Amino acid sequence: MDENAKSFTRRKFLEIGTATVAGASALSAAPIPQSEPDAERAEHDRSGTNPIGPNDAALHDENPDSVAPPPTDHANVKPFKYPFELSHKRTQEGGWARQVTVEDLPVSTTLAGVNMRLTAGGIRELHWHKASEWAIMLYGSARITCLDQYGKPFVDDVKQGDLWFFPTGYPHSIQGLGPDGCEFILVFDDGAFSEYDTVQLADWTAHTPRDVLAKNLGVGADALQQIPTGELYIFQADLPRTSLEEARRQAAGTGELSKDNFSFRLKEMEPTHRTTGGEVRIADSKVFQVSNSVAAAHVIVHPGGIREMHWHQNADEWQYYISGKGRMTVFAAGARARTMDFRKGDVGYVQQTFPHYIENTGTEDLVFLEMFKTSFYQDVSLNNWLTHLPPQLVMSHLHLDQAALNAIPKKETVIVPV
Ligand code: MN
Ligand code: MN
Repeated sequence: MDENAKSFTRRKFLEIGTATVAGASALSAAPIPQSEPDAERAEHDRSGTNPIGPNDAALHDENPDSVAPPPTDHANVKPFKYPFELSHKRTQEGGWARQVTVEDLPVSTTLAGVNMRLTAGGIRELHWHKASEWAIMLYGSARITCLDQYGKPFVDDVKQGDLWFFPTGYPHSIQGLGPDGCEFILVFDDGAFSEYDTVQLADWTAHTPRDVLAKNLGVGADALQQIPTGELYIFQADLPRTSLEEARRQAAGTGELSKDNFSFRLKEMEPTHRTTGGEVRIADSKVFQVSNSVAAAHVIVHPGGIREMHWHQNADEWQYYISGKGRMTVFAAGARARTMDFRKGDVGYVQQTFPHYIENTGTEDLVFLEMFKTSFYQDVSLNNWLTHLPPQLVMSHLHLDQAALNAIPKKETVIVPV
């Protein structure tokens, strides 16, 4: 179906009538979108009532803007929300993992996400992969290791609010520390990336002829008798017995540590933007140098606040909702707009250049991540654009008077003040 057909309103459809039979049969394949007056009228008569009640009361309550869309919503916009709660949870002794990829959320072609839990001592097996890995620690702490392109090791302990970034092919590990391990979000710069398809140490050694492995490692066959027969992925181990400093000394041996810093203390960073409505911390490669294919914005919107109307020139936006409740309308051009509700644990997605806002609809702070497959964060603020044009041009479009135009903030606020 072409874009013109999709944007036909019910009124236009009726005007065409039966005169264009071929066109009408093509249109019948898609639901006829509601027109704005229809939706407004329906709010005041019985058109929108639901006599048998919600089929799923919990889903109904969590999705008020799908149950009763704002009249400004229109036509078909691909779904842009997927809750981690619906993902398969792969649980092993030592922790669990679940993922949201393009298989789950078809619009999310550029980035994929994983939610992982490791117990105290639980290890995500030594591994590497084709995508680059960005992460934020949400709970507890972990010891991470990585080897850089010069063969130099990196070891660090990360806690809540810290980030890490492991470039494509760099081998790494994560181990939960005391007292209760950790939980974190991983973001990969490929929507089709699967966390269950990584190159893992014990998987590789199990699939290498034993004599080759012995020769390569320079050990006798006896030394390999206990070697695992397949991948470990996540497994329970003892907590590290060494301090961070000692672990770094052990990893460096007689050599040096990596000069790159693969971790970043996001929580300790001053907000990039702050208003009475909330604050934003932008961590792209300007401040977190190694993170050269993923840019992040950590956003806090206070109750009543709105992440202002904007769009991104250079990348799709992948979102993870850390806490609170909100809603987002994505405008997809051609009269297509859709509003969806979000809460802790949801993934959201906005395609490159599609305008959107995010409103806090709860009573506590709305905290979420905006993630982009790019080295530098970019956005366009509607307010900043409208106030940097010849005023007459703007007034001719929106039929605003001079006083209204003067009231629009003259620069990007990022979070609308409350
Ligand atoms: Mn990894
Ligand atoms: Mn955005």
